[in-house]
Amino acid sequence: MKVLITGGTRGIGRACVEAFRDQGHDVVFLYMQSEDAATELQSDTGAIGIKCDIRSSDEVSRALQCAADRLGEIDVLINNAGVSSFGFFDSISDEEWERIIDTNLTGAFYVSRAVSRLMISQKRGKIINIGSMWGKVGAAMEVHYSASKAGLRGMTMALAKELGPSGITVNCIEPGVIRTEMNAVLNDEALDVLAEQTPLGRLGEPSEVASLALFLASDAASFITGQCIGIDGGFAI
Ligand code: NDP
Repeated sequence: MKVLITGGTRGIGRACVEAFRDQGHDVVFLYMQSEDAATELQSDTGAIGIKCDIRSSDEVSRALQCAADRLGEIDVLINNAGVSSFGFFDSISDEEWERIIDTNLTGAFYVSRAVSRLMISQKRGKIINIGSMWGKVGAAMEVHYSASKAGLRGMTMALAKELGPSGITVNCIEPGVIRTEMNAVLNDEALDVLAEQTPLGRLGEPSEVASLALFLASDAASFITGQCIGIDGGFAI
Protein backbone atom coordinates (compact mmCIF):
# COMPACT_ATOMS: atom_id res chain seq x y z
CA MET A 1 0.00 0.00 0.00
CA LYS A 2 0.98 3.64 -0.52
CA VAL A 3 0.49 5.49 2.74
CA LEU A 4 0.55 9.20 3.69
CA ILE A 5 0.85 10.04 7.40
CA THR A 6 0.74 13.57 8.81
CA GLY A 7 2.85 14.37 11.89
CA GLY A 8 5.20 11.42 11.46
CA THR A 9 8.16 12.60 13.50
CA ARG A 10 7.00 11.72 17.00
CA GLY A 11 4.61 9.71 19.11
CA ILE A 12 1.63 8.07 17.43
CA GLY A 13 2.57 9.29 13.95
CA ARG A 14 6.07 7.87 14.23
CA ALA A 15 4.67 4.54 15.48
CA CYS A 16 2.40 4.48 12.42
CA VAL A 17 5.32 5.19 10.07
CA GLU A 18 7.30 2.33 11.65
CA ALA A 19 4.36 -0.11 11.67
CA PHE A 20 3.46 0.45 8.01
CA ARG A 21 7.12 0.28 6.93
CA ASP A 22 7.56 -2.94 8.94
CA GLN A 23 4.75 -4.45 6.85
CA GLY A 24 6.55 -3.41 3.65
CA HIS A 25 4.30 -0.48 2.66
CA ASP A 26 5.54 2.71 0.97
CA VAL A 27 5.23 5.61 3.38
CA VAL A 28 5.46 9.38 3.03
CA PHE A 29 5.13 11.41 6.20
CA LEU A 30 4.60 15.13 6.78
CA TYR A 31 6.12 17.09 9.64
CA MET A 32 6.25 20.74 10.61
CA GLN A 33 9.63 21.53 12.18
CA SER A 34 11.48 18.50 13.57
CA GLU A 35 14.15 18.28 10.86
CA ASP A 36 16.53 16.05 12.84
CA ALA A 37 13.80 13.59 13.81
CA ALA A 38 12.59 13.49 10.21
CA THR A 39 16.10 12.76 8.89
CA GLU A 40 16.59 10.02 11.49
CA LEU A 41 13.21 8.45 10.73
CA GLN A 42 13.94 8.46 7.01
CA SER A 43 17.23 6.66 7.46
CA ASP A 44 15.81 4.24 10.07
CA THR A 45 12.75 3.22 8.06
CA GLY A 46 13.16 4.24 4.41
CA ALA A 47 10.02 6.38 4.65
CA ILE A 48 10.10 9.77 2.90
CA GLY A 49 9.59 12.94 4.95
CA ILE A 50 8.16 16.18 3.55
CA LYS A 51 8.17 19.40 5.54
CA CYS A 52 4.70 20.91 5.55
CA ASP A 53 2.70 23.02 7.97
CA ILE A 54 -0.77 21.55 7.44
CA ARG A 55 -2.35 24.84 8.60
CA SER A 56 -1.40 26.30 5.21
CA SER A 57 -3.55 25.31 2.26
CA ASP A 58 -0.73 26.29 -0.15
CA GLU A 59 1.87 24.21 1.70
CA VAL A 60 -0.50 21.23 1.73
CA SER A 61 -1.06 21.55 -2.05
CA ARG A 62 2.70 21.59 -2.68
CA ALA A 63 3.39 18.71 -0.28
CA LEU A 64 0.61 16.58 -1.75
CA GLN A 65 1.97 17.12 -5.27
CA CYS A 66 5.36 15.98 -4.01
CA ALA A 67 3.85 12.99 -2.14
CA ALA A 68 1.84 11.92 -5.20
CA ASP A 69 4.99 12.18 -7.36
CA ARG A 70 6.88 9.94 -4.92
CA LEU A 71 4.09 7.42 -4.24
CA GLY A 72 2.22 7.40 -7.56
CA GLU A 73 -1.09 6.73 -5.84
CA ILE A 74 -2.25 7.15 -2.24
CA ASP A 75 -4.19 4.22 -0.77
CA VAL A 76 -4.22 5.30 2.86
CA LEU A 77 -4.20 8.71 4.54
CA ILE A 78 -3.66 8.97 8.28
CA ASN A 79 -4.57 12.44 9.58
CA ASN A 80 -2.48 12.26 12.74
CA ALA A 81 -0.78 15.67 13.17
CA GLY A 82 -2.19 17.47 16.15
CA VAL A 83 -1.46 19.88 18.99
CA SER A 84 -2.94 20.41 22.43
CA SER A 85 -2.75 22.79 25.36
CA PHE A 86 -4.34 23.26 28.76
CA GLY A 87 -6.08 26.32 30.13
CA PHE A 88 -9.28 27.67 31.60
CA PHE A 89 -11.84 28.44 28.91
CA ASP A 90 -11.87 32.19 29.59
CA SER A 91 -8.08 32.36 29.32
CA ILE A 92 -7.85 30.84 25.83
CA SER A 93 -6.54 33.56 23.51
CA ASP A 94 -7.80 34.04 19.95
CA GLU A 95 -4.39 32.91 18.71
CA GLU A 96 -4.40 29.70 20.78
CA TRP A 97 -7.95 28.82 19.71
CA GLU A 98 -6.89 29.26 16.08
CA ARG A 99 -3.67 27.24 16.52
CA ILE A 100 -5.59 24.25 17.89
CA ILE A 101 -8.53 24.37 15.45
CA ASP A 102 -6.34 25.20 12.43
CA THR A 103 -4.01 22.27 13.10
CA ASN A 104 -6.37 19.58 14.36
CA LEU A 105 -9.42 20.28 12.20
CA THR A 106 -8.64 22.63 9.31
CA GLY A 107 -5.32 20.89 8.62
CA ALA A 108 -7.07 17.54 8.40
CA PHE A 109 -9.60 19.18 6.05
CA TYR A 110 -6.88 20.55 3.73
CA VAL A 111 -5.02 17.24 3.54
CA SER A 112 -8.20 15.14 3.18
CA ARG A 113 -9.53 17.39 0.42
CA ALA A 114 -6.33 17.08 -1.60
CA VAL A 115 -6.01 13.33 -1.06
CA SER A 116 -9.72 12.65 -1.70
CA ARG A 117 -9.33 14.04 -5.23
CA LEU A 118 -6.71 11.36 -5.92
CA MET A 119 -8.71 8.65 -4.17
CA ILE A 120 -11.90 9.50 -6.09
CA SER A 121 -10.03 9.12 -9.38
CA GLN A 122 -8.60 5.80 -8.12
CA LYS A 123 -12.09 4.69 -6.96
CA ARG A 124 -10.57 3.43 -3.72
CA GLY A 125 -8.89 4.64 -0.57
CA LYS A 126 -8.94 4.71 3.20
CA ILE A 127 -8.87 7.84 5.33
CA ILE A 128 -8.09 7.38 9.02
CA ASN A 129 -8.43 10.38 11.31
CA ILE A 130 -6.78 10.45 14.70
CA GLY A 131 -9.34 12.06 16.98
CA SER A 132 -9.41 11.80 20.76
CA MET A 133 -11.69 10.46 23.46
CA TRP A 134 -12.03 14.13 24.50
CA GLY A 135 -13.84 14.78 21.23
CA LYS A 136 -16.50 12.36 22.47
CA VAL A 137 -16.78 13.17 26.19
CA GLY A 138 -15.10 16.61 26.45
CA ALA A 139 -12.24 17.62 28.74
CA ALA A 140 -12.27 20.51 31.21
CA MET A 141 -9.31 22.87 30.57
CA GLU A 142 -9.19 21.60 26.98
CA VAL A 143 -12.31 23.08 25.41
CA HIS A 144 -10.48 24.15 22.24
CA TYR A 145 -8.88 20.71 21.87
CA SER A 146 -12.16 18.90 22.59
CA ALA A 147 -13.98 21.08 20.05
CA SER A 148 -11.36 20.38 17.37
CA LYS A 149 -11.60 16.62 17.92
CA ALA A 150 -15.42 16.69 18.03
CA GLY A 151 -15.23 18.46 14.66
CA LEU A 152 -13.08 15.63 13.35
CA ARG A 153 -15.82 13.16 14.45
CA GLY A 154 -18.40 15.07 12.41
CA MET A 155 -16.07 15.28 9.43
CA THR A 156 -15.45 11.54 9.63
CA MET A 157 -19.14 10.60 9.51
CA ALA A 158 -20.11 13.15 6.84
CA LEU A 159 -17.14 12.33 4.61
CA ALA A 160 -17.82 8.60 4.95
CA LYS A 161 -21.29 9.19 3.49
CA GLU A 162 -20.00 11.42 0.70
CA LEU A 163 -17.03 9.27 -0.32
CA GLY A 164 -18.57 5.82 0.23
CA PRO A 165 -19.94 5.65 -3.34
CA SER A 166 -16.37 6.21 -4.59
CA GLY A 167 -15.14 3.16 -2.68
CA ILE A 168 -13.40 5.22 0.02
CA THR A 169 -13.76 4.47 3.72
CA VAL A 170 -13.35 7.15 6.40
CA ASN A 171 -12.91 6.26 10.05
CA CYS A 172 -11.68 7.93 13.22
CA ILE A 173 -9.45 6.45 15.92
CA GLU A 174 -10.10 8.03 19.32
CA PRO A 175 -7.17 7.35 21.66
CA GLY A 176 -7.22 7.78 25.42
CA VAL A 177 -4.04 8.85 27.21
CA ILE A 178 -1.05 7.63 25.21
CA ARG A 179 2.59 7.89 26.26
CA THR A 180 3.95 10.61 23.93
CA GLU A 181 5.59 14.02 24.11
CA MET A 182 2.14 15.59 23.87
CA ASN A 183 1.67 14.56 27.50
CA ALA A 184 5.15 15.66 28.60
CA VAL A 185 3.52 18.70 30.23
CA LEU A 186 1.95 16.34 32.78
CA ASN A 187 4.05 15.27 35.77
CA ASP A 188 4.33 11.65 36.96
CA GLU A 189 1.66 12.20 39.60
CA ALA A 190 -0.86 13.45 37.04
CA LEU A 191 -0.05 10.57 34.70
CA ASP A 192 -0.52 8.10 37.59
CA VAL A 193 -3.97 9.57 38.29
CA LEU A 194 -4.93 9.20 34.62
CA ALA A 195 -3.72 5.59 34.65
CA GLU A 196 -5.80 4.92 37.78
CA GLN A 197 -8.89 6.38 36.07
CA THR A 198 -8.38 4.00 33.16
CA PRO A 199 -10.18 0.67 33.68
CA LEU A 200 -7.18 -1.22 32.26
CA GLY A 201 -5.02 0.59 34.85
CA ARG A 202 -2.35 1.97 32.57
CA LEU A 203 -1.64 4.45 29.78
CA GLY A 204 -1.61 3.37 26.15
CA GLU A 205 1.43 2.99 23.89
CA PRO A 206 1.77 4.62 20.45
CA SER A 207 2.31 1.16 18.92
CA GLU A 208 -1.16 0.08 20.11
CA VAL A 209 -2.74 2.97 18.20
CA ALA A 210 -0.63 2.10 15.16
CA SER A 211 -1.94 -1.49 15.29
CA LEU A 212 -5.51 -0.21 15.03
CA ALA A 213 -4.53 2.04 12.12
CA LEU A 214 -2.97 -0.99 10.37
CA PHE A 215 -6.22 -2.92 10.87
CA LEU A 216 -8.41 -0.09 9.53
CA ALA A 217 -6.12 0.22 6.50
CA SER A 218 -6.32 -3.51 5.78
CA ASP A 219 -8.80 -5.52 3.70
CA ALA A 220 -10.10 -6.96 6.97
CA ALA A 221 -11.75 -3.57 7.59
CA SER A 222 -13.19 -3.19 4.09
CA PHE A 223 -16.85 -2.83 5.26
CA ILE A 224 -16.11 -0.46 8.15
CA THR A 225 -16.74 3.23 7.48
CA GLY A 226 -17.94 6.32 9.34
CA GLN A 227 -16.92 4.80 12.67
CA CYS A 228 -15.23 6.50 15.62
CA ILE A 229 -13.36 3.77 17.44
CA GLY A 230 -12.05 4.28 20.95
CA ILE A 231 -8.65 2.92 22.01
CA ASP A 232 -8.52 4.19 25.56
CA GLY A 233 -8.31 1.25 27.95
CA GLY A 234 -11.98 1.83 28.75
CA PHE A 235 -11.51 5.43 29.96
CA ALA A 236 -14.43 6.92 27.99
CA ILE A 237 -16.99 4.16 28.66
P1 NDP B 1 3.14 14.58 19.40
O1 NDP B 1 3.11 15.93 20.00
O2 NDP B 1 4.04 13.56 19.98
O3 NDP B 1 3.45 14.69 17.83
C1 NDP B 1 2.72 15.60 17.05
C2 NDP B 1 3.13 15.47 15.60
O4 NDP B 1 2.32 16.39 14.84
C3 NDP B 1 4.58 15.86 15.34
O5 NDP B 1 5.10 14.99 14.35
C4 NDP B 1 4.48 17.28 14.79
O6 NDP B 1 5.51 17.61 13.87
C5 NDP B 1 3.17 17.20 14.02
N1 NDP B 1 2.57 18.50 13.82
C6 NDP B 1 2.10 19.37 14.76
N2 NDP B 1 1.63 20.47 14.17
C7 NDP B 1 1.78 20.31 12.83
C8 NDP B 1 1.50 21.09 11.70
N3 NDP B 1 0.93 22.31 11.80
N4 NDP B 1 1.80 20.62 10.47
C9 NDP B 1 2.38 19.39 10.34
N5 NDP B 1 2.67 18.59 11.37
C10 NDP B 1 2.39 19.05 12.60
O7 NDP B 1 1.63 14.07 19.43
P2 NDP B 1 0.98 12.61 19.68
O8 NDP B 1 1.73 11.58 18.95
O9 NDP B 1 0.73 12.47 21.12
O10 NDP B 1 -0.46 12.84 19.00
C11 NDP B 1 -0.74 12.45 17.67
C12 NDP B 1 -2.23 12.62 17.43
O11 NDP B 1 -2.95 11.83 18.37
C13 NDP B 1 -2.72 14.05 17.62
O12 NDP B 1 -3.71 14.36 16.68
C14 NDP B 1 -3.31 14.03 19.02
O13 NDP B 1 -4.29 15.02 19.19
C15 NDP B 1 -3.88 12.63 19.05
N6 NDP B 1 -4.08 12.11 20.40
C16 NDP B 1 -3.02 11.96 21.27
C17 NDP B 1 -3.23 11.47 22.55
C18 NDP B 1 -2.13 11.29 23.54
O14 NDP B 1 -2.43 11.01 24.72
N7 NDP B 1 -0.86 11.42 23.17
C19 NDP B 1 -4.58 11.11 23.00
C20 NDP B 1 -5.61 11.30 22.02
C21 NDP B 1 -5.34 11.77 20.78
P3 NDP B 1 6.87 18.37 14.38
O15 NDP B 1 7.60 17.37 15.21
O16 NDP B 1 7.62 18.70 13.16
O17 NDP B 1 6.40 19.55 15.17
